Amino acid sequence: MLSDKNAVITGGTRGIGKAIALKFAENGADVAIIATSESDAARQTLAQLKSLGSDAKLYVCDVRNPEEVTRMSEMILADYGRIDILVNNAGITRDNILPALKDSDIDDVIDVNLKGCMYVTRAFIRSFVKHRFGNIINISSVVGLMGNKGQSNYAASKAGIIGFTKTVAREYGKRNIRCNAIAPGYIATEMTAALSEEMTKAIAESLPLGVLGEPEDVAQLALFLAGDASKYITGEVIKVDGGMYV
Ligand code: NDP
Repeated sequence: MLSDKNAVITGGTRGIGKAIALKFAENGADVAIIATSESDAARQTLAQLKSLGSDAKLYVCDVRNPEEVTRMSEMILADYGRIDILVNNAGITRDNILPALKDSDIDDVIDVNLKGCMYVTRAFIRSFVKHRFGNIINISSVVGLMGNKGQSNYAASKAGIIGFTKTVAREYGKRNIRCNAIAPGYIATEMTAALSEEMTKAIAESLPLGVLGEPEDVAQLALFLAGDASKYITGEVIKVDGGMYV
């Protein structure tokens, strides 16, 4: 389904990003993953991707840093020649009620989640225009649509991604570049492992489907958006949330 496609996935070493990277590789894509360091998790993911036949490479880059992002994009384009699919997945949380949020909690979350998504997209957009093809998938969150107590910084960053997604879709649609967002609900990853067992149970019980999602659930949608089956979909925000939003 994605043979002959080259994909870049930020935060592709763990959790949702890793599941997307593996799903793309299983479907024939060559995958470049971006993370903050060459961690054990990164090395393991890289080995798994290669074992699937993907020409996988790891690029160490902090998406908060525009100069690093530019350098990284130049390296990736030199190595792969062309990029077809970009998944902006890197993200962090620094949860607290508003008065308790430190300046750094606000800055870090906006810088990684929102500015990082903008920097990385900006770095690749000219190459998409040049090739008259590009497919951008931004990982937002249902809390960007509905808000969430204790996550004002995070919800704002994820709502920002939705505005950014719709604007890129409008600006570049005629150049054959699509841009969509995925809004996951609670997905079992290291990010949600920080929640207490009691809280996780309460969240699951509050959901219509009664369980947390898995990274694979998000990866299935990313695969659909990455392929031609979704060729008439752009500027869309699709929830994978076990019914949380209803
Ligand atoms: P994880 O914490 O498991 O993984 C986060 C990934 O982002 C890691 O690969 C990490 O790389 C990378 N990353 C973090 N900061 C940076 C940075 N500054 N520069 C480059 N890479 C960075 O997160 P999840 O898999 O749970 O989440 C993935 C995305 O999905 C996030 O955007 C998150 O907001 C979103 N999401 C998650 C939900 C959930 O319930 N889990 C729900 C809704 C949305 P490294 O290994 O180097 O740290």
